[in-house]
Amino acid sequence: MTLYEQHPVSITNSLSGKKEPFVPLNPPFVGLYSCGPTVYNEVHLGNLRTFTAFDVVYRYLTHIGYRVRYVRNITDAGHLTNDAGEGVDRIEESAKLEQLEPMEVVQKYTTSFHEVCRIFNILPPSIEPTATGHIVEQIEMVKKILDNGYAYETNGSVYFDVRRFMEKYKYGELSGRNIDDLLEGTRELDRQDEKRNSVDFAIWKAVSPNHIQRWPSPWGEGIPGWHLECSAMGTKYLGKTFDIHGGGMDLKFPHHECEIAQNVGAYGVTPVRYWMHANMLTVNGEKMSKSKGNSFLPKELFTGAHPLLEKAYSPMAVRFFMLQSHYSSTLDFSNEALSAAEKGFKKLSNALGAIKKLDFIPLGAEDHELTKELEKLITACYTNMSDDFNTAKTLAVLFEMTSWINDWKAGKGTAIASETFERFKQTFISFMEDVLGLREEEEHNQEMIDGIIQVLIELRKQARTNKNYALSDKIRDDLKALGIQLMDGKAGDMSYTID
Ligand code: AMP
Ligand code: ZN
Repeated sequence: MTLYEQHPVSITNSLSGKKEPFVPLNPPFVGLYSCGPTVYNEVHLGNLRTFTAFDVVYRYLTHIGYRVRYVRNITDAGHLTNDAGEGVDRIEESAKLEQLEPMEVVQKYTTSFHEVCRIFNILPPSIEPTATGHIVEQIEMVKKILDNGYAYETNGSVYFDVRRFMEKYKYGELSGRNIDDLLEGTRELDRQDEKRNSVDFAIWKAVSPNHIQRWPSPWGEGIPGWHLECSAMGTKYLGKTFDIHGGGMDLKFPHHECEIAQNVGAYGVTPVRYWMHANMLTVNGEKMSKSKGNSFLPKELFTGAHPLLEKAYSPMAVRFFMLQSHYSSTLDFSNEALSAAEKGFKKLSNALGAIKKLDFIPLGAEDHELTKELEKLITACYTNMSDDFNTAKTLAVLFEMTSWINDWKAGKGTAIASETFERFKQTFISFMEDVLGLREEEEHNQEMIDGIIQVLIELRKQARTNKNYALSDKIRDDLKALGIQLMDGKAGDMSYTID
């Protein structure tokens, strides 16, 4: 029996709002898509929360034996400032501001995104397609939607016709929006407007010749609509219907709603069986976003160089902080919460280092009750993760496991079966490293190093006072061998340097 059969996964499906048993279309294969970054600036911590959430989904499904094809795109064209397909092009705008080619902007921030993912231990997806690499597929999809009568062309742009679509299909189901509310909330269209209805959205947008990023199409030169790229690339790599689609909660509407409409409009089938949405990282209750000025970049976290940060935090402490809450709850950033996470993570990291070095020492006759208790903890790791990827509860179990590890580290034996010990050890290591992506962090505890060297300096002084030169030289030479150079000062003081 596979691990996924032993521990069946359930997922809160945003479509139904309910937790549902996860039944892939074609097990052991699983198709997973998540919306990637728009590479016009650096990703901030909020973006990383969403990427971390789906990294863990990918990691866990793989761990329990599914063969996951994980597609996470790079939006390098077509994302305008207004999600309805209006406003300025984000990449063109950055290119102007930074005096770069749009593709230089794309390259710069894609490279930096990959670097941040590496630091945060976010795995590369199986396929990382770009919008600019799939213009042909997007144009084909626009043609299909037009042929099916769910879009119209105006002045070289093509708009999705929401009203026509709604004559046959539903629109707004994922986000629970009512189309009439949508219409009420939007402005009246004047006669020059290219759109028939304000809820219509661009699937192809004409641009002027001074727009650097533009491609020829049957409707003239232009760019694909932002929502379209995910429809086209999801379909290309995962099929017309696939298992899981994820993204941040803020993408539910309009992005994901439009994605569904485009797929149904082109192929007549809904694209996704399970929609998953990660909730927002907030600062004082407000969504972290670049435009609000309350976002920080990963680099700022590691150096502490931001007015909102009291100190620097390590990447794994930050990752642990994110995993301490369920992906579907909002997570509020604060220095207190991060400092607490730092301490918590250190405990787990120390236990990880310790258990890797521990071998089983049998102690007396096996205590069956105790063996059962430890087996329960092992199972709990799986049941919690299979329960809608509950990282918070899984971490709580790992903390319980830590107390046992600390006992064993302190030399306290436990009368359990050796297979249980081995399974316990493997489970702890694999849930930390493979499933949650938390790796041991080397501690550079400068304060402690300083303290220890001062003790040695003091001992050396005493040895010299006692004319025990053999000992004082030994202290100096042994430290030197470790790259620590003692320097005698004028007034008998000593200092040191480290190579
Ligand atoms: P973008 O580059 O703006 O398309 O965003 C990339 C991903 O980050 C999307 O899935 C967004 O939903 C997500 N995101 C943006 N802001 C936040 C936030 N404050 N908390 C969590 N996820 C976010
Ligand atoms: Zn998307």
